[in-house]
Amino acid sequence: MDIVDRLAKERRARLGAERLLEQKQRELFAANEKLALHARALSEQIVEQRHMTKAAVSEAQMLKGQNSRFLSDLEAAHTSAVMAERRLRDSVNALHDGFAVFDPDHRLLVANRAYLIPYADYNVGPGTPYREILKLTAEEGMVDLGAETPDAWIERMLARWDCDPIPNETVQTSTGQWLRLVDRRARDGDMVCVALNTTQQMRIWAALEAIPDGFVLFDREEKLLTCNQRYKEIYPESADIMVPGTTYEEILRAGVTAGAYVDAIGREDAWIEERIGQPLEGPVVREQELADGRWLRVLEQPTPEGGRVGLRVDITHQKEQQAALDEARKAAEAANRAKSAFLANMSHEIRTPMNGVVGMAELLCDSNLNDEQRLFADTIRSSGEALLVIINDILDYSKIEAERLTLHPEPFDLERLIHEVAMLLQPRARERGLDLMIDYDLFLPTRFVGDAGRLRQVLTNLVGNAVKFTEKGHVLIRIVGLETDPGNQQLHVSVEDTGIGIPADQLEHVFGEFNQVESDANRKFEGTGLGLAISKSLIEHMDGSVWVDSELGKGSCFGFRLLLPIAEAQSAPPDPILLRRALVVDDQFINRTILERQLLTCGMQVTLCRSAAEVITELARDTDYDVLITDHEMPEMNGLQLADKLRETGYNIPIVLFSSNPAAARDGAGHAHLSAVLQKPLLRSELYRRLRGLTAPASIPQAAQPAYTGPRRTMRVLAAEDNRTNQLVFRKMVKDLQIDLSFAHNGREAVEMFEDLKPDLIFMDISMPEMDGKEAARAIRARETHTGGHVPIIALTAHAMDGDDTSILAAGIDQYLTKPLRKTAITAVLVAHCPPEALPVVEAEDTQTEVA
Ligand code: ADP
Repeated sequence: MDIVDRLAKERRARLGAERLLEQKQRELFAANEKLALHARALSEQIVEQRHMTKAAVSEAQMLKGQNSRFLSDLEAAHTSAVMAERRLRDSVNALHDGFAVFDPDHRLLVANRAYLIPYADYNVGPGTPYREILKLTAEEGMVDLGAETPDAWIERMLARWDCDPIPNETVQTSTGQWLRLVDRRARDGDMVCVALNTTQQMRIWAALEAIPDGFVLFDREEKLLTCNQRYKEIYPESADIMVPGTTYEEILRAGVTAGAYVDAIGREDAWIEERIGQPLEGPVVREQELADGRWLRVLEQPTPEGGRVGLRVDITHQKEQQAALDEARKAAEAANRAKSAFLANMSHEIRTPMNGVVGMAELLCDSNLNDEQRLFADTIRSSGEALLVIINDILDYSKIEAERLTLHPEPFDLERLIHEVAMLLQPRARERGLDLMIDYDLFLPTRFVGDAGRLRQVLTNLVGNAVKFTEKGHVLIRIVGLETDPGNQQLHVSVEDTGIGIPADQLEHVFGEFNQVESDANRKFEGTGLGLAISKSLIEHMDGSVWVDSELGKGSCFGFRLLLPIAEAQSAPPDPILLRRALVVDDQFINRTILERQLLTCGMQVTLCRSAAEVITELARDTDYDVLITDHEMPEMNGLQLADKLRETGYNIPIVLFSSNPAAARDGAGHAHLSAVLQKPLLRSELYRRLRGLTAPASIPQAAQPAYTGPRRTMRVLAAEDNRTNQLVFRKMVKDLQIDLSFAHNGREAVEMFEDLKPDLIFMDISMPEMDGKEAARAIRARETHTGGHVPIIALTAHAMDGDDTSILAAGIDQYLTKPLRKTAITAVLVAHCPPEALPVVEAEDTQTEVA
């Protein structure tokens, strides 16, 4: 039993243990399963947790990053705020203008350096009351208080802060600076104050206020920006509205309404429209008359921004002066006219008796006088002539001075004019034994358009001087020309002498008024020193120029250049000269060559001799000459003696003699042998005329006859002259001439006599009773329109004033001679107008003296 039991027990125990094991295994399994489930859930949870942790970590990291950036931004912001504040403070401190802020209790909160500078020595800083600052300012004399006491000023300045808006205040500091105080209350009650330094503007403004003229400035909308006090004073009617912002139109209208502007009265709107209707495009200057009698000069100019800046200058005084000057000028002009008339009358009055003095003296000199009487008569004549030259010079000069000189261009014959001048001066040259020669360029036309009278005056002066300042030798007038463009000649006229000359340093000086060479050699010559000044002015008036070249002791050469239009040739070319060979004798080289050229151009062969002896030798060698042309005045054997000698020897060659003194030549012994006596210097056309008139030598066919072969009569001359003395002078002057002279005593008589007498030439005095010379000339010209023809009328006038010649020529008068009359001038006119069918005026006997 025990064993069984024990076995059974053991079996049971084993069974029980097996069951328990089984159960425990089941429980373990279940627990395992649960655990596995749990573990899975847990691991999932862990995974999720890990994810979350990771995200949280990265988020935390991100936040941390953000956080640190934020911190650094914050730090940077702080730093820049600090810097900005510092900059602001620096900038505010750097301002030249003062800047301050006061709290609502008027205590200083903050101020910049400029604001505090004046108070540097005083304890002014944050907390200082405004009143304290004002007190310091006033009592320490930091600003100019004007008439105010310090207390009054302080109270006014404090009261100013109670105003709304606070008015600006301008103060001048003790250092001369100007400050504009601009104060504004901020919303929080603080007072912001700025003290602007306006010294520069104030200086400009002070300057604008200081100028005596009105100044005004408008903006581009024509609104007033500023004007000075003077501007307001100038326009008191509109001064009240002259505040910034008022328009230009409003200001003008206020003045116009008050009737301030004279030229606006009655046309107010149009007047305003003229001023503001157009934008101002450039500077405008005009004069404005105000109703109260003042005158303004208005100057306006656009500003760069399109505004308008203006000045008003009071010119009332100037206007008054101008009016006074105008009055004075009118009075002066009237006086000048009176003076001119006086001069004209006086010149007339002086010339008329001078005509008697000079003319009679000239006649007296020609009569039989003893030496002493001749000296007296000569002195009267030369003094009279010198006086006339002075009168003429002074009259001319005063005319040029008064710019009253006008030129009267007309066609004229230059060669003839030069010849006439030479003829006039010939007697003086002859007295001194000077050769007066003309070398007129052979290829130069002779007719030009110019003021012949004035050219004659210039030439007379130059040739006259040359003769005056030359004691021996010659005076040569040379004319050359160059056709610059078709129809115009550039003329060069020179007058060369072998006289005393002019020192180099005086060459320009002699052209000045009243200037003469200061030397002993010069002092003995008379003169006014005006001639060259007048000549220079005249030539320059004609757009020409004068010049001089001279060597002291050797001679001078004065000349002028002038451009003159060529006038049409007056008539058809003359008949040819039929002579072939000429023998020319002259001791003067220049004369020989001039003659040679003149003869060569008309197709003649020329042989030149220097003396009478050479002629005799030449003729002994060769007799085949058609003419001998000889000078009168030659050393050893003169022209007349030569003629005598040749005739004695049996030569019958025609002889033409030229002489500076034809009258003397006519009285000479050999004169009967001459074919013609010509006046020196030779006028080319006259020489040709005489050569043409010479009987052709036997070898020349009969056709070669002079142009006019009919009977000849005496030249008929009518002279209209009311004054008995002048008639006498005239008659005596022409007594040696072959003319038929009749006198008319006034213009009316002259016209009547013109019809009956049919004169070849009329000399017409201008001032005559009943009908004056101009009227008579007009009447004669009127009659000629029916009858045809044109009688040359030469006026004789004592008038020398400018303008007279114009009216004289306008009356149909061809030429005029000024009194006193000179024999040479009258003779030259007579010779020039002697018709072909009349007997030659001067050498009448000579041309008749045909070679036997
Ligand atoms: P005037 O002859 O009346 O003195 P001008 O004006 O004609 O006045 O001349 C001025 C000066 O020029 C003369 O006084 C003289 O000194 C000088 N002069 C003019 N022409 C000549 C000349 N041909 N030779 C020398 N000197 C001359």
